[in-house]
Amino acid sequence: MSNKRTGIIREINGPIVTISMPGARNGEQVMIGEMGLFGEVISLKGDNALVQSYEPTEGIRPGGPVEGLGWPLSVELGPGLLGSIFDGVQRPLEKIFDTAGDHIPRGLSLPSLDRVKEWRFQPSEGLECGTWINAGALLGTVQETRLIEHRIIVPAHFQRGELIELAPEGDYRLEDTIARIRTPQGQVRKLRLFHRWPVRTPRPYLRRDHGVAPLITGQRILDTFFPLLKGGKGAVPGPFGAGKTVVQQQIARWSNADIVIYVGCGERGNELVDVLETFPQLQDPYSGHKLMERTLLVANTSNMPVVAREASIYVGLTMAEYYRDQGYDVVMLADSTSRWAEALREVSGRLGQMPVEDGYPAYLASRLAALYERAGRVESFSCGKGSVSLIGAVSPPGGDFSEPVTAHTKEIIQTFWALSKELADARHYPAIDWVDSFSEHVDTAAEWWHKEIDPRWRARRGQALALLARDAELSRIVNLVGPEALSSAQRWELEGAALIKEGVLQQSALDPVDTFSSPEKQFALLDMVLTIIEKGAELIEIGIPVQELTALPMLARARRAKQTYDSEQVEQIGVMLEEFLQEFHDIRLEYAKFKEHAE
Ligand code: ADP
Ligand code: MG
Repeated sequence: MSNKRTGIIREINGPIVTISMPGARNGEQVMIGEMGLFGEVISLKGDNALVQSYEPTEGIRPGGPVEGLGWPLSVELGPGLLGSIFDGVQRPLEKIFDTAGDHIPRGLSLPSLDRVKEWRFQPSEGLECGTWINAGALLGTVQETRLIEHRIIVPAHFQRGELIELAPEGDYRLEDTIARIRTPQGQVRKLRLFHRWPVRTPRPYLRRDHGVAPLITGQRILDTFFPLLKGGKGAVPGPFGAGKTVVQQQIARWSNADIVIYVGCGERGNELVDVLETFPQLQDPYSGHKLMERTLLVANTSNMPVVAREASIYVGLTMAEYYRDQGYDVVMLADSTSRWAEALREVSGRLGQMPVEDGYPAYLASRLAALYERAGRVESFSCGKGSVSLIGAVSPPGGDFSEPVTAHTKEIIQTFWALSKELADARHYPAIDWVDSFSEHVDTAAEWWHKEIDPRWRARRGQALALLARDAELSRIVNLVGPEALSSAQRWELEGAALIKEGVLQQSALDPVDTFSSPEKQFALLDMVLTIIEKGAELIEIGIPVQELTALPMLARARRAKQTYDSEQVEQIGVMLEEFLQEFHDIRLEYAKFKEHAE
């Protein structure tokens, strides 16, 4: 497959280059011009092929050389991925900065993974020479970071064969042979610590499985109200500045996935700089080590054209599937899929294809679906169950959710975290709208919550959402006829809804205590707030004026409990509730006395 071909450049149209290269194959990776720009064949037309270039094509001229590499756009998969920062075609950004400085020279070709570093390989116990093995078989392990054991598996493009050599425990470089396999036809194949995989081909697995456990993100509006299962597909749509990137970064920082892959194809360069600067500093809340020991970043640099963003999502997904195949739960964040779709639009426009909606090609929906289809929980060939959860930000122009990318995404995903401009403007963060958002995973998540945290989870969640719906109704009345039209009970309902919003839904990413909320804390806060609302309603029913309750200083304490008590101090929330109930009890006694006097 790796027989190189040469050809020449015919024509250049922005990132689309027409070449003539006999034998070119669709999807083949090519090097364009003297500089050797990175490109990929996207269509064949007789002797000519159309190539999309992942680097700016200025200065490239017709007649210049082209080289076909004979393989499709691929990534390297092996130890050393974790902790790395790659560009959209898996070039190692840090290494590029070291060798070339801030400005990435075009046509730079560096291996994605370190070729010099040695890794301690531990062959699989009991795996004997002479054994017949299949693709997906586990050859051994490498401790990639303190947190993650890298499982070296026979790549899927290897057919069944007889193991004729397996390296003993020792230190090996990536390109060293660690196993030899003889195929039924008698050919001998060498296996190394890494292999290549074409990014547009989903990696195979034994069978698909359904999600069973929620991805815990530590964000209350996500976990408690609109859960996503491990292996699920989620979207974070929202207008500019509403908080998409913050939501994605919070998930990257706090979620209980084994591996985090963050693909930044952000609209703003400074967002990426921020990610590149802050992530390496972060601590993993679960292990206390560096978060980068289980994280890898893909960052499209601003000097790469829009079409490169298209590739970066597949690059990220392929690495995500690779760790899934090792039995890990991976979460991949893509910020944002709108940039990916824009790349499709640009390419299809330059190819002269018929635009369908807002200039997007007719295949937008099917491409989006195929992309999200790569998420899921699966039974791997040799490492048990693993999953890829895929969470894409969507940035619709003008925040209009009816535009094609948002509308199609909504049909595909299972969990929709809709960010609202109104909430963001009111500084209600995360600005996730509880009316527009949805989760199809509530039933399965409930099983987990009921078993692990509290059997009242589902009921409590429902009560909170019902009260929020009442709040919307009552607020409309207030807007029409003023607050005087409301009964005491209704005014208490409004107060209750405010308590849910402030005490539970709002959660500042910047607050050192509240930035993460364990499931236990999430439920304790929700239960406290709802109990206060219910007990207060009972007092109002016997005639206690609503002002007496709304004036209670304890209400402010309840609103602040999320910032007062961290996830280790959940009992304190219960203690506080007891004090609250005591106060209600006192009010009730006093009122009874007062009534007795009056009679
Ligand atoms: P987007 O990616 O949608 O354009 P950002 O994620 O960059 O928006 O958010 C814009 C700003 O909103 C942030 O810089 C921050 O000040 C604020 N913000 C958003 N979400 C939160 C949050 N959960 N906690 C605190 N501040 C937030
Ligand atoms: Mg953003």
